Amino acid sequence: MSVEHPEYRLGADPKINYPIKVQYCGNCTLPIEYCEYYPEYEKCKQWLERNLPTEFEKVKLGEDGNETGTGEDEKKRQKRGGKGMLKAKKKEDVPKLVTVSRAPRGKKKSVTVVTGLSTFDIDLKVAAKFFGSKFACGSSVTGEDEIVIQGDVKDDLFDVIPDKWPQIDEDSIDDLGDQKR
Ligand SMILES: [Zn+2]
Repeated sequence: MSVEHPEYRLGADPKINYPIKVQYCGNCTLPIEYCEYYPEYEKCKQWLERNLPTEFEKVKLGEDGNETGTGEDEKKRQKRGGKGMLKAKKKEDVPKLVTVSRAPRGKKKSVTVVTGLSTFDIDLKVAAKFFGSKFACGSSVTGEDEIVIQGDVKDDLFDVIPDKWPQIDEDSIDDLGDQKR
């Protein structure tokens, strides 16, 4: 609830000297609140300090406030960055799992997407080459941990992968089925 009565607002604010005078800067000739956008702001500040010491104090206070603000922003940013670092470190804890799925390509063709091989420390380029020659089709690394084999070979992979890399057993291969278009 406001204590103020509306009629009081019509009167002059006793804290402000009327008429309000716009203070112009002797250096850049702009109203002093625009000085900070002037390239020679340092010179403006010097002029203010000499000619309008009270205004200069206000400018200084404002700057201090801004600095604190940025400092907090900086802290927040650092915190966010810190979280990211933690996540990156955790990569070693990523569960070892290979996923295979079928994705449509064109009207009738499908490709097979294999992800997770690098969680078993398998070189993706070597793996892509292996799939290519094994299935006699195109095969390439398409992402950080993704290989696309040009053909529907998903079901074969449950035999082929553990054969080639014994550290991956069939249970570590997750069948994601068909990817939607
Ligand atoms: Zn100025």
